[in-house]
Amino acid sequence: MSLKKRHKKVKIDYLSAIKKDVSHIEELKVKEDIAIRNLTTFKIGGNCRLFLEPLTYRALRQVKNYLDTNYINYYVLGAGSNILAPDKGVDCILSLRSLNLFSVERNTSLENNEIILRLGAGFSLKRLISWCIRNGFSGLESLVAIPASVGGAVRMNAGIKERSILDALTRILVLKNRELIWIDKDHFSPKYRDLGLRDNEIICACEFKLQKTDIKSLRDRLLKTINHRLETQPIGAKSAGCIFKNPEGDYAGRLIELCGLKGKQIGDAKVSEKHANFIINLGNAKQGEVLELINIIRSRVKDEFFKELSLEIKIWESRVGEY
Ligand SMILES: Cc1cc2nc3c(=O)[nH]c(=O)nc-3n(C[C@H](O)[C@H](O)[C@H](O)COP(=O)(O)OP(=O)(O)OC[C@H]3O[C@@H](n4cnc5c(N)ncnc54)[C@H](O)[C@@H]3O)c2cc1C
Repeated sequence: MSLKKRHKKVKIDYLSAIKKDVSHIEELKVKEDIAIRNLTTFKIGGNCRLFLEPLTYRALRQVKNYLDTNYINYYVLGAGSNILAPDKGVDCILSLRSLNLFSVERNTSLENNEIILRLGAGFSLKRLISWCIRNGFSGLESLVAIPASVGGAVRMNAGIKERSILDALTRILVLKNRELIWIDKDHFSPKYRDLGLRDNEIICACEFKLQKTDIKSLRDRLLKTINHRLETQPIGAKSAGCIFKNPEGDYAGRLIELCGLKGKQIGDAKVSEKHANFIINLGNAKQGEVLELINIIRSRVKDEFFKELSLEIKIWESRVGEY
């Protein structure tokens, strides 16, 4: 047997072994060969060989424990709105999309006009904000139109300008060292677009404190934010949001635009004409094409403004052969 064939066979055996091992975990959905492009807003990426989707925290704890104990590489996936995946695909994804419970918590220490909501990490941020509009609760409206899961948004400290999801967050349920523990927001030292969670920790649920407000003024504020987004961002295009973090005291988009890179295209990957910090996928973009654009942008901005742009998006590697 050729080395390539043997390599492929070992890989199949390895994945079959994982599949068999996790089959005893109740309330865990296991799928094979799922197209990652359908799981991310960038619509880029090959297949995921094993797609693991716990339906309960118990199943999540068991499967994570198994993966960690056996040193199996995997990626945690929320709503996939900040990810650039490889064309060769990845072996294993742990998806949190089914951890989407929603409950209104009773809390006697609250003021009359306040409410505590508890949400599973996979709950859609868009659905949460729709609920807030219908019921007249404010605190999260600046995040409207961010296509995230609640857990992913908290993990990434998602926000706009000076506002972030952490403003309304009270605490999170984290799976850490095999234990599920509630941690208060104040425990963290968040940075720009980063809550400061360790790589092997998973947010399972989040609690938010929201204020009752007048529905009409809430709707007006939301409409203003949506219109601003529609005017300034390529909403509707395939993208992963802003590619780079804004450097201290400046905007990455402004610097990229000043370098004359708006509209720069490699294959099907293009720097948006509307917002230079967005790269959009015109249809069939490859990870390599986006990475090429990223390298060009970084070196031009460095040459012209002496500023290093750091990535906001998460780049997944294929990790083929790492087992
Ligand atoms: C059109 C568009 C507009 C956007 N606008 C904004 C914006 O205004 N502001 C902003 O901040 N971002 C914006 N983004 C980026 C993106 O939506 C945010 O980064 C969001 O927080 C990612 O959430 P997600 O659930 O999609 O996470 P994913 O993309 O699935 O994952 C992002 C990272 O978080 C990790 N992760 C996901 N869930 C969990 C969890 N429960 N526990 C631990 N780790 C987890 C993943 O492993 C990965 O490393 C935009 C994106 C798009 C496509």
